[in-house]
Parts: sequence; C-alpha cells; structure tokens
Amino acid sequence: MPVKLIITPQHTMHTNAHHPEQAARIDAIMAFLHATPIVGTTVHAAGTADLDCIRAVHSPDYVAWLQQRCERISTLAELTADTYITPDSFGAARMAAGAACDAIDAMQAGGHAFVLGRPPGHHATSSEAMGFCFFNNIAIAARYAQRTYGLGRIAIVDFDIHHGNGTQDIFYGDADVLFISTHASPLYPFSGTCEQMGHGAGYGTTLNIPLERLSDDTAYLAAFQQVVLPALTRFQPDCLLISAGYDAHWDDPVGNCALSVTGYSYLMRVLLDAAQQLCNGKIVAILEGGYSQRALAASVHASICQLAEQPMMPDTLGQRLGNPNGAGQSIAWLTAHHPLLHDTKEIFS
Ligand SMILES: [Zn+2]
Repeated sequence: MPVKLIITPQHTMHTNAHHPEQAARIDAIMAFLHATPIVGTTVHAAGTADLDCIRAVHSPDYVAWLQQRCERISTLAELTADTYITPDSFGAARMAAGAACDAIDAMQAGGHAFVLGRPPGHHATSSEAMGFCFFNNIAIAARYAQRTYGLGRIAIVDFDIHHGNGTQDIFYGDADVLFISTHASPLYPFSGTCEQMGHGAGYGTTLNIPLERLSDDTAYLAAFQQVVLPALTRFQPDCLLISAGYDAHWDDPVGNCALSVTGYSYLMRVLLDAAQQLCNGKIVAILEGGYSQRALAASVHASICQLAEQPMMPDTLGQRLGNPNGAGQSIAWLTAHHPLLHDTKEIFS
C-alpha cells in the first residue's frame, strides 16, 4: 500500500530551542528521509482541523481558553510547569489535529499514513493541556474515523514511553475504543497501572502494560506478542491507530528504557501484521514523543520502512544491555486478570 507522510508546516511557529519538544525534532526526521528516501512514500502538508472535530474530544470551554491564552501573549510563555506556548501554538495544535484527520482520510482511501507532526497529543485530556500536549490528536482521529466514515471499533496502541493518560481518560468509559499502552513505570505522568481497565460500558477496553526501567527489545516484544496481539485479536477492531512515541529508545534523554531502532522496527511490523489480519490493513501512526533526535529520526525511518514494506537501513546506533524481563510482572498479572485476555465468555457484542 502507498504510505502518506503528513507534515504540519505550522509547527515551526510553536517551538522553544531550550525544551526537548522542539521543531528540530521534525527537521531531524525530514533530513533522514531526504538522505535515504523510502520507495512508496509521498509527503503531504496537513490541513487545519475543523473546530467541530476538535470539540468532538475537547470541551468548547477548553478550546476557547487555549485560543485566548495564545492570543494574549506576544512571545514564548509558560502554560503549565512543563508545557510552553507561543502566540501561534493554537494554530500549530489545530494543524496537528488536522494532520491526524488527514491520516484517517488516507487510510480510508486505501493507504497507510504516518503523521510527522507536532505538538504531540496523548497527554492532553478533554479539558487540560499537559506534558507538551494541547489537543489529543489520536483521540480526534478516532472520533473523526467514527463520525466521518462510520467505523465502529477503534484500537489505539500507544508505545510512547510515557503513559497516554489523556487518551485513556477520554475513552475510559467507551466500549468502542480499545486503548492499549506500554510505558515505563514509575515515570511521568505516574498513571497507567494494570488495574486501570476502564469503567462502566468501557470496562475491559483499557489495557495498561507498565514496564520496568531499562526494558529492552526482548521485553517489548514479549509484551506485544503475549498481551497486545491477543487483546487486539479478541477486540476485532475496524482500524488500528498508533501513538508512535520514540522516547523508549536507549539514547533518549527523557526516557529510561532500552529499545533499539531495530526493536522499534519490530513493533511496527507486529502492528502492521495485526492490521492486515484483523482490519484490511487499516493502520495510521501519529508521532508522539522522542527526544534523542538521532534515535528519533532513525526509528521513525525504520517504522515507515515497515509500513512501506521496504528493508530498513542498518541500525548504526545498535543495542544496549537492558532488562529483557521488564514486562514479565505485567504480562503475568494481565494474563490472569484482564477481561480481554482472561475471560473466555464473549464480553463485546
Ligand atoms: Zn513520551
């Protein structure tokens, strides 16, 4: 399938050279892609999301508040303790949300899509910006897929090293959206225990896989093969959306895990195979974190090579000694207790 790479030109207006989440992250990815182009991929500039699409996830009060905060400043300012804004952050965030919707359009047209945009989204709740995030791009994409194309069951897999607390929060009571997250624990935002499995009608459609520090390729693959794949198979999604965060690489200055570029490539292979088996290859990836620019660029490139069915470049950064059993405790608990893995009766009609 063709792969659309969707960029968000307005992101350069939302940047801070002294912050890890800065415009140079995308520059590094694009430079790598330019130096080693991938057959079957094309680059497209995103449109701006309709406010209605954003309000399908975020409260109108929050959207208006964020817009006003950006309009009232003249230079870089602090929105929360960890999240900066510029006068153009609202427009940049709106374009990142638009890119996520454009990716759904590309998927429905019969291709794969990878959003190379920012700011990221998975920490943003319906009414709160946090963790460098303003609008929850992947949640907006999920609602857009349901509203515009009538897709019923959406699976979101979040392999950023941080728990996607915002995405979990938005869909915690929703039986039609499965949220699966691998994340280091303890680590910001200090949520995402195994015991958090959804509530009400959504009980069983949240699946957290906390990992010990230094979890490596072996640990991640164990989590994917023993938990993520069986859960996806049981849920039978109509499409698969990936919160693709690259801060679990061993070189990342923010993270504390030990994934390699090769490991990231395997994760995307597993997810692509799942999408091909379960939902006609409908898969979209949306960039979240990743703050070692060299690891980010190489890992994103390797992921796109998988989507495009092209061989990956040699992993010149290599591997580091890690913790191959870092997922063991979570796998054991989830296998015994999570309804998607444990119950044999049909819980989703
Ligand atoms: Zn992250």
